[in-house]
This record gives sequence, C-alpha cells and structure tokens, in this order.
Amino acid sequence: MKTKNIAILGSTGSIGCQTLDVISQYPDRFHATILVAGSRVDDLIRQAICHRPALAIIADESKYNALNEALTPLGIKTAAGQAAINDAMESDLFETVVTATVGYSGLAPTLRAIRAGKQIALANKETLVVAGDIVTDAICKSKSSLLPIDSEHSAIYQCLVGEKRDTIRKIIITASGGPFRTFSREQIARATVSDALNHPNWSMGRKITIDSATMLNKAFEIIEARWLFDVAPSQITAIVHPQSIVHSMVEFCDGAVKAQLGVPDMRLPIRYALGEAVRLNTSDSPLDFTQYPTLTFEKPDEERFPCITLGKYALEMGGNTACVINAANEIAVKAFLDGTIRFTDIHNTIMQTLSKASRIDHPTYDDYVASNTEARTVAQEICNHLKFNSISWCS
Ligand code: NDP
Ligand code: MG
Repeated sequence: MKTKNIAILGSTGSIGCQTLDVISQYPDRFHATILVAGSRVDDLIRQAICHRPALAIIADESKYNALNEALTPLGIKTAAGQAAINDAMESDLFETVVTATVGYSGLAPTLRAIRAGKQIALANKETLVVAGDIVTDAICKSKSSLLPIDSEHSAIYQCLVGEKRDTIRKIIITASGGPFRTFSREQIARATVSDALNHPNWSMGRKITIDSATMLNKAFEIIEARWLFDVAPSQITAIVHPQSIVHSMVEFCDGAVKAQLGVPDMRLPIRYALGEAVRLNTSDSPLDFTQYPTLTFEKPDEERFPCITLGKYALEMGGNTACVINAANEIAVKAFLDGTIRFTDIHNTIMQTLSKASRIDHPTYDDYVASNTEARTVAQEICNHLKFNSISWCS
C-alpha cells in the first residue's frame, strides 16, 4: 500500500492534534510531511520531532529562529510567514491537506491547495462560509476533491453514499445546543468566558467553542452544507440534540431518514476523510447504546440564540454577507475572550457590522479580501465602543 503524504494546516490545535493521533494509528497508510502552526512553536517542535515531517512552518515569523535551530539539525526544513504557508500548498511533498487552522486564515492556503489539485480534508468551515462560491468553483475547475471533517457534514456525506442527489428532501443538521441550552435569556446575558468555554460534549479550540455557545457555529454549518451538498437553503434545517450521538441526518423523497451515529469523537470523521471515504479499522471504543438510553431532539430557540438565524439570512442575502458576518464574529469573539465585551455583544457586533459594511453583490476573491478587512475594522470600532459601555455596566 502506498503511504499517503499529508499536510496539516493548524497541527497544534484541537483538530490538528487529533489528526496526528489518527496518523500515528496507521503508520503504513499515512505520514505527516508538512506541519503548519500559528504561534505555538514549542508544540510544533515537539510534533516535528515525533512525526518527522519534511517541512515545518510557523505563521508567526518572530518564532522562526527557535523553530529553525531545533529542527534543522534533524534534517527538517523550516519556514515562517503566511506567504511560505501559501507557497507550501503547491509542493510535491503531500497529496492531502487537512485544513485545521481557525478562521479566515484558512481561505488563502486552501484555495492554493485546490488550484494545485490537492485533496482537501476540510475542518476549517470558515473557508466555505466566507467564499463558498469561489471555493466550490475552484474545485470544479481543478483535479482537487474535498471531504468534510466537520462531524455533521461527514455524517451527511456518509448518509448520501449510494443515493441520488435529486432524492434528497431535507438535510437535518444536529446541534448539541452548547453550554447555554438550558440558560434563560438573563443568564445568557450574564455569561462569563469560563461559562461559555464549558462545552458539554466536545473539547475544541476556544473560537469554535464560543461559536457553539452563541450557536453561530450552526449557522456556519448551514452555509457549509449549502456549498458542500449543493442543496437549496430551504432544504437545510437544524435541530438540537443534546446527546451529540446522532451526528446529522438526511430525509429522502420517499420519507426515509438516514442518520450517522457514533460517540462524539472527531477522530471518526478525520479517519473517514483521510481514508477517502473508505472505512478503516479502529480499536477505539464503539458506541455503547446502553450508555445513551434516551436520545432527544428539540427545536432551536431563535430568541435566546439569535445567531442561529444568520445562516439562512446570509444565504438569502448572498454576495459578501457571510464574509462580513464571519469577520465581525472573529473580532467579537476575540473581544469577548479578552473580557472586553459581553457574550450577547457578539450578536450585537455582527448586526451592527452588517448594517455598516459595504454590500457587494457578486464578489471576486479580491472583493472578499477587501470585505473581510473592512468588516474587521468596522467590528473593531463597534467592540471598542461596547468595551467602554461594558466597563460602566460591570462597575
Ligand atoms: P484550535 O484553535 O484548537 O487550533 C487552531 C490551529 O490553527 C492551531 O494549530 C493554530 O496554531 C493554527 N493557526 C492559527 N492561526 C494560524 C495561521 N494564521 N496560519 C496557520 N495556522 C494558524 O482550533 P480547532 O482545532 O478547534 O478548529 C480548527 C478548525 O476546525 C476551525 O475552523 C473549526 O471551526 C473547525 N472544527 C473544529 C472542530 C473541533 O472539534 N475542534 C470540529 C469541527 C470543525 P497555534 O495554536 O500554534 O497558534
Ligand atoms: Mg460541527
């Protein structure tokens, strides 16, 4: 069997570490040949010593010397900066890239990899949220292919194997409901950073954990599903399923519903994506149904979680709407994590940014880049203003 060479964008994060874990379980099948991290250079060095990639890249250029000094003696090439990351996506060192970086930073390298004909194992949903039209168009025009890692989209993909696209009636995306599922509006308004980071079922990076608490993550997943499965927005719906055992479902024209179930463990969708939709043996503990005697489902509460409505809204409005929402959210989540705005101000910031940012009906790639920059600036001004107000609110 030929070993598949894999690049990991964001190897030091939650998905990146779990991807390396999967790679370690199948040493004859997979080898990590390029590792890319943001700024955690010590973690990247440790990973490189263990996995022996051909190339290790750190986005934060100030950390380059440390990386170079540690890895050059081992014969591992090193580089730093965004341009080096983007250029590496065209290298012959790998066939598949796992895009596990967080936020807008995933878009440019993913597009480069697509245009170079690489296989994409997509965790970075923001790539499709920001520029789903350009990304899917680039895939159609290249030899590239894409498999989702997001657990819901992996589940939908698995449900669709062997089915005809025109028989899909509805895609039903499940949501855990996050840490505030049972909180009142007043409790949500007073939520602290540690409350919001306390996800009941999944251990993930900080940004997606906050997106899960606001439920903007589900709005993003509706957008992601629209681009991945080419269905109308009206065919996509979200349902709260607090146990996170049913990872998503597809309803067909004859009334049949297919679901994919499993324990909440991202290594399952990672394994499926790396195996190119071939099921690989694992000794990981299987789902024990007796541990989950009750599986429940409820309608999402759009009043307590207004962010969930932004997925359908962005798809209806089209153009650069989702790009603006994503940019505003990245700024607002950072401000919330820094303790300078309230939890509910994340939604306020997004709505105010939407009302102020320029509208572009048919954005090009350069338009998306400009729109992202403009929306960040607008959102930062809004957060600065909210920070001033929250100080008086806190005191
Ligand atoms: P983490 O915050 O845990 O990890 C992010 C990774 O990206 C880190 O390795 C970080 O490096 C790296 N990074 C940050 N900025 C850059 C940059 N400019 N260039 C290159 N690398 C960078 O996030 P997660 O692993 O939780 O999530 C990653 C993506 O996967 C997100 O888009 C998320 O929505 C998606 N996802 C995650 C799931 C999960 O279970 N975690 C589930 C489904 C989807 P460093 O830490 O060194 O700074
Ligand atoms: Mg998900």
